[in-house]
Amino acid sequence: MAKVRFTETALRDAHQSLLATRMRTRDMIPIAEEMDNVGYFSVEAWGGATFDTCIRYLNEDPWERLRQLKSEFNKTPIQMLLRGQNLVGYKHYPDDVVTKFVEKSYENGVDIFRIFDALNDIRNMEKAIKVAKDQGAHVQGTISYTISPVHTLDDFVDLAKELEALDCDSVAIKDMAGLITPTAAYDLVSKLKEETGLLVDLHCHCTSGMTPISYYAACQAGVDILDTAISPLAWGTSQPPTESIVAALQGTEFDPELDLNLLTHIKKYFEDIKDKYHCILDPISESVDTDVLLYQIPGGMLSNLISQLKEQGAIDRYNDVLDEMPRVRKDMGYPPLVTPTSQIVGIQSVMNVLGGERYKTVSNEVKEYMKGMYGKSPAPVDPEISKKIIGDEEVITCRPADLLEGEFEKFKKEGEEKGFVKSDEDALTYALYPPIAPKFLKGEAEEETLCPPVTDPDVTEVIPTEYSVEVDGDIFDVTIMPTGLVSIEEEEDVEYDDDTVLSAMQGMVIKLSVEVGDKVTVGTPICVIEAMKMENNIEAEKDGVVTEILVEPGDAVSIGQGLMVIKEE
Ligand code: MN
Repeated sequence: MAKVRFTETALRDAHQSLLATRMRTRDMIPIAEEMDNVGYFSVEAWGGATFDTCIRYLNEDPWERLRQLKSEFNKTPIQMLLRGQNLVGYKHYPDDVVTKFVEKSYENGVDIFRIFDALNDIRNMEKAIKVAKDQGAHVQGTISYTISPVHTLDDFVDLAKELEALDCDSVAIKDMAGLITPTAAYDLVSKLKEETGLLVDLHCHCTSGMTPISYYAACQAGVDILDTAISPLAWGTSQPPTESIVAALQGTEFDPELDLNLLTHIKKYFEDIKDKYHCILDPISESVDTDVLLYQIPGGMLSNLISQLKEQGAIDRYNDVLDEMPRVRKDMGYPPLVTPTSQIVGIQSVMNVLGGERYKTVSNEVKEYMKGMYGKSPAPVDPEISKKIIGDEEVITCRPADLLEGEFEKFKKEGEEKGFVKSDEDALTYALYPPIAPKFLKGEAEEETLCPPVTDPDVTEVIPTEYSVEVDGDIFDVTIMPTGLVSIEEEEDVEYDDDTVLSAMQGMVIKLSVEVGDKVTVGTPICVIEAMKMENNIEAEKDGVVTEILVEPGDAVSIGQGLMVIKEE
C-alpha cells in the first residue's frame, strides 16, 4: 500500500454536476496558482460538457480557456474528459475529426486524457487512445461503471485488460451515479490491481450517499488515485470533498500528504464562487438522493432533467419520467447511463411520458442507437421496440466510425470561406457543433446573464423568478433564470388556424426539410428541432402542400409556436 493521490474536479465535473457547467474562466484563473501548489495528481479542468457550455451559454472560447489554464498550472497535469469517438459532443465523429481534436487538445494544454465510451465498446475508444498516446500524453482508459442484470465484475476487468493492451497508463472506474458499494469498490479495485499493471483511479459521485465509504474501501484495496472536489463544490451529484477525504486518510498508510491549510484557503475562494452562482445551484442536485439506487441517473443528469422538464413546462411529470427511465434503459439493452446514453434514455423517457404513448416521438439519436450506430449495446435491444422505431432498417455490427466519411477539411474550408473559421481550433469547434458554432465564431453570441439581481427591471417586473416547487411532497424554493431560449417578446399569444403545424417542444430549429410548394404525406420529415440537446425529426401529420414556413434554422421555438402551414389539396 502506498499513498493515495488526488484528482481535483472543481474546474470540470464539480461545476458540471452542481452548477450546470456554468463556471467562467475568469472565476478559475485567480485560484489556479494556489491549486497548482497543492500537489494533486491532476486537475480535471476541460472536456465533458465544458466545451459545449462555453460556446452555447458563456460566449467563451474553450480553447482559450485551456491555454489560459495551461499557463497557470506549471506543476500539475491538466486532465480532460473525452467521450471517445463522441469527443465532447453527443454523437460519433469521423476519425479525422477525432485525430485533429486530440492533437489540438494536447497541443493547447491537455496532459492527461480520460477516455470513455458510454457502452464500454472499446472500438469507440481506440482511435482517441492511439492518437493521445502518439502525442506522448498520459492516457487513462475508462470503465463506465453500472449495475444491471448483464454487467459483471469480470466484464469490467476484461475491459481494463483490453485498455492495457492499447497502452493506456491508468484506468478509471467511472461511477457516474455513485452506485458502487464499498464491497464492489473493494472487489473491483483489488481485481484490477491483481490482473493489470495499470494505475487505478476511482471516480464517483455522491448521489447515493455511499461514496466516502466506497473510497475508503478502495484505499484498502490499493487504489492509486481518488477523484474529489473542494468542499463547497462537493457532495450531492458531485464528488466527495477533497479536504474531508484528505483528513480521513491522514496518518494512515494511504496519507496523500496534502496541506490542509492550503486546501482550506482554496475552499474559501470557492465558497465565494458558489455564492456568485447561487441561482443555478438546485437544492435537489446538492442533496443525497437514494432514488439513484433505483434509477441510476448520473451526476448532472438529474439537474439537467429537472431543468429540461421546467423548460418543457412539465415538472409535474418528474416522477413519471423517473419511473419510465429504467424501462427505456431495459428496452435499449441496459446501456450505462452516461453522456450521451444518459441524455438519450432521459429524453426518450421524457418524450414517452409527455407524448402520451411510448415511442410515438423518437429522437434521431434513439433511431441511430437502435441501428447500432453508437456501438454494441451490453444486452440485445428489445426486438419489438426496435421494430417500432426503425422498422426493417439494417443494424450494423462494424465499428460505427468506419462508416463515417472524413469531414474536418470540409468544415474547415466551408468555415474559412464564410469567414468565421480562422484556425484549426475554430474548424474543430465548427465540426463539433455545426448548428451553434457559427454564431459563436462570428462573435454574435452573448454571455448568459449570471444570476440576475432581482431588481433588474427588464426581467423581474414581467416574470417572477422565484417559485416553490413540490417534488414528492417536499417543497423546494427555486430561483429560475433566463436561459436565453425564451425571450419575453416571444411569449405573446398568436392564433394559428388548423393547418398550422405547431411545435410540441421547446427547442431550436436546426434544419428545414421542405420548402414552400412541396407536397408532403403523413410521415414526411418537415424539419428538425433540437430540444434538450437531441435532434428530433418533425414529421407531417397529414397529406398536403406546404404553403408557408414560419421559422428558419437558428430560431428558438416554444411549445405551441407555429412552424409551417400545410394545406390539404
Ligand atoms: Mn463524473
